[in-house]
Amino acid sequence: MKIQIPDKANKILEILNLHNYDGYVVGGCVRDSILGRKPRDWDICTNCRPEKMMEIFKSFKVIPTGLKHGTLTVVIDEEQFEITTYRIEEAYTDGRHPEKVEFTNNLREDLKRRDFTINAIAYNPKDGLVDCFNGIDDISNKIIRCVGNPIERFGEDYLRMLRAVRFSGQLKYKLHSETFLAVKRLSNNIIKISKERIREELNKILLTEKPSDGIRLLNDTGLLKYIMPELEKCVNFKQMNPHHDKDVFEHTMYVLDNTGEDLVIRLSALMHDIAKPLCFSIDEKEIGHFYSHHMKGMDIAEDILRRLKYDNKTIEAVKILVKEHMARYDKVNPRIIKRLINRVGLENIERLFELQMADIIGGKAPHDFSSIEKAKELYLKIITENQPLSVKDLEINGYDLIKIGIPKGKEIGIILNALLDEVLENPELNKKEVLISEAKLIFAKL
Ligand code: ATP
Ligand code: MG
Repeated sequence: MKIQIPDKANKILEILNLHNYDGYVVGGCVRDSILGRKPRDWDICTNCRPEKMMEIFKSFKVIPTGLKHGTLTVVIDEEQFEITTYRIEEAYTDGRHPEKVEFTNNLREDLKRRDFTINAIAYNPKDGLVDCFNGIDDISNKIIRCVGNPIERFGEDYLRMLRAVRFSGQLKYKLHSETFLAVKRLSNNIIKISKERIREELNKILLTEKPSDGIRLLNDTGLLKYIMPELEKCVNFKQMNPHHDKDVFEHTMYVLDNTGEDLVIRLSALMHDIAKPLCFSIDEKEIGHFYSHHMKGMDIAEDILRRLKYDNKTIEAVKILVKEHMARYDKVNPRIIKRLINRVGLENIERLFELQMADIIGGKAPHDFSSIEKAKELYLKIITENQPLSVKDLEINGYDLIKIGIPKGKEIGIILNALLDEVLENPELNKKEVLISEAKLIFAKL
């Protein structure tokens, strides 16, 4: 089998060869090339030591990415290539960082330290594929399998458990039975991994074509309980409500799969009903209710996202969507929709409609989207007509009010808001003279 290596990566291999060193592309790029997926980056491994590489590549821009670990980055026309000396990793006493890194001249040793067989294949045009651990078979059989003993390999670096689930979700592969059982057995150790690294893997799981597969596997392996215990409480939580034919977790998985590949929507879908178990009550007719679960859900979502160190922008957007996912549009009029746009923000309003559509699909059929469609139509009209939405869009401001004799102070805000209310209903009123005379009338009544 031949892999099409990009010219720049090939050039690096040639330079290594020229100096009598081996060079291979390795890991994700080989796996993805075999699969016909576009590799994200081209990693290279070599028996050349880092100090020597600095010399060989001195006519290029070189970034000493992790010299101690044998890695440096060569930049060719803005494109970065990581080159790493073959190494053996030893003694992970904390399950996170190798105690020491030892270099080797043996490619097989370097492949042996890699996490999964499908990631432990090297290639160069001279030798073809080097597949010491039958990664190609596992690719054909769609299997994620640790290189070597899974208990030992996860024990060295617990993040690998989450990577296993992530690759399974991305590639639609199954975990090999021993690999699966090892994750199950060691899942509680995931708490030893930094929150940032957990977050990055979770994001990748959420941004796959069918995110529910990865989330279900997190649950089946026991990892979910340690990463997002609040969601684990939704598993098998019966709703006892005629609008729902699925438990909270099952419903959540449907909603998740019916949203587009956008991290904010996917996180919101994952957590939109997360407070349901906490807010559950049952009435005299044995029907379940979840009063205020959207408000409580907003708080829980914030706790989770802060814990996993998400950025504020993401946190704010997800909070808004969780809080507003229960907004109903039985009576839509321009003022209601404009107030909604103001609460949710232009960058999130379409996300909200999408989440709400998915929420309906996750409920019991028949699925009626008509009120959301009406709301969306009105929203699009408001936006295309560039209708005023907030106090900022009014044709007058506080200074104009002061000029006509209204005292500085809270009256200004009250009047501007009252004017906005009228303009939201009727955009034609947004003219300076009209607003001034209207302001005088409102002031007189204050
Ligand atoms: P992606 O498409 O996400 O980049 P990748 O396989 O390239 O997938 P990277 O995190 O970029 O993953 O790592 C590159 C290679 O390094 C992997 O293919 C694997 O061989 C090895 N590797 C990465 N992380 C680990 C780890 N935690 N333990 C062992 N080997 C690892
Ligand atoms: Mg990679």
